[in-house]
Amino acid sequence: MSHKILVLPGDGIGPEIVQQGLKLLACLSEDFSLDIHVEQALLGGVAVDECGVPLPDATLEQARAADAILLGAVGGPKYDDLPREQRPERGLLALRSELNLFANLRPALLYPQLAAASTLKDEVVAGLDIMIVRELTGGIYFGQPRGVETLTGGERRGFNTLEYRESEIERIGHSAFVTAQRRNRRLCSVDKANVLEVSELWRETMQRVAADYPDVELTHMYVDNAAMQLVRAPKQFDVIVTTNMFGDILSDCAAMLTGSIGMLPSASLDGRNKGLYEPIHGSAPDIAGRDEANPLATLLSIAMLLRYSLGQAEIADRIEAAVGDVLQTGCRTADIQTADGRLVGTEAMGDAVIAALRERQ
Ligand code: NAD
Repeated sequence: MSHKILVLPGDGIGPEIVQQGLKLLACLSEDFSLDIHVEQALLGGVAVDECGVPLPDATLEQARAADAILLGAVGGPKYDDLPREQRPERGLLALRSELNLFANLRPALLYPQLAAASTLKDEVVAGLDIMIVRELTGGIYFGQPRGVETLTGGERRGFNTLEYRESEIERIGHSAFVTAQRRNRRLCSVDKANVLEVSELWRETMQRVAADYPDVELTHMYVDNAAMQLVRAPKQFDVIVTTNMFGDILSDCAAMLTGSIGMLPSASLDGRNKGLYEPIHGSAPDIAGRDEANPLATLLSIAMLLRYSLGQAEIADRIEAAVGDVLQTGCRTADIQTADGRLVGTEAMGDAVIAALRERQ
């Protein structure tokens, strides 16, 4: 079966880390007999430079036709003063919403070799493996009405609307339960049902969806407690499902448990396994073009792409294991450098993972 993958290098370190991803995709074609067709297109600042918009129509068309999309990162200081609609990040938001990518999967996984890189004690984080499923296209970031208005008397009032329909809660619920079924079958739904009516509906709906997944244990937690538990005893969680804004905050908190954002991949999925895969970090303009960026989050994003969009879980496992092998040899980019580590650049780290993967064939 042939798989069409659209690659969007983007800005800053995007092209460097994606280059390692392209090498990995070529290796998967050559050595693992996957029939992969790769196309490249423009998104973000580079698209603004060449086409005047951050998401050109041609890119959107190619994205619609692809089975999966791999993104580097977008944005940079050069574009910060552009009108809001032309900013690189707008292109990414538009792409997610055009493709209806409502389920954002963000693993927080700590390779044991990097336990010392976490700000938390070894025993709290060693073996950490959490998956946060964040609703990505609804909630307070999109709710209407929104704005800033001037009241009589001159004082200004800012307002946003938090809303979720039952159908939106149900579909993210199903994604989260299926994700939990593929893991340790424990799902914690995070809300603020003691204060918010929307959260009451969220909780009620999650309970109803749970009836379809008797093999998954569903629990509920208020978001303030979840934030506390994530830094107190993070290993109690398997899969967390939550709203757009709560997920935004909690997933960054979980990411920090693992030491470096250079290690963490993500997937944004529609209801039919099509997905956009990207490292969670940005375009890191401070280190762009210096062969310093950690490409592992990008390579691990490809592992997620294989697992969720191409149905190749076994090869995904092998890529993740190959990353572990490379870390075990002491190979480190600057962001994950430890006292006993051997400093390498972006290219060398990419090559090392591919060599380790070939050894695992
Ligand atoms: P950032 O994630 O780009 O960088 C934060 C820090 O982490 C920097 O010191 C950077 O050098 C370091 N870092 C990030 N990725 C790394 C990697 N792979 N290896 C080693 N070190 C790494 O966040 P920022 O500086 O706030 O944002 C820079 C630009 O990226 C902004 O324009 C922002 O809007 C954009 N951004 C894009 C995305 C995306 O494309 N999805 C996400 C976040 C930020």
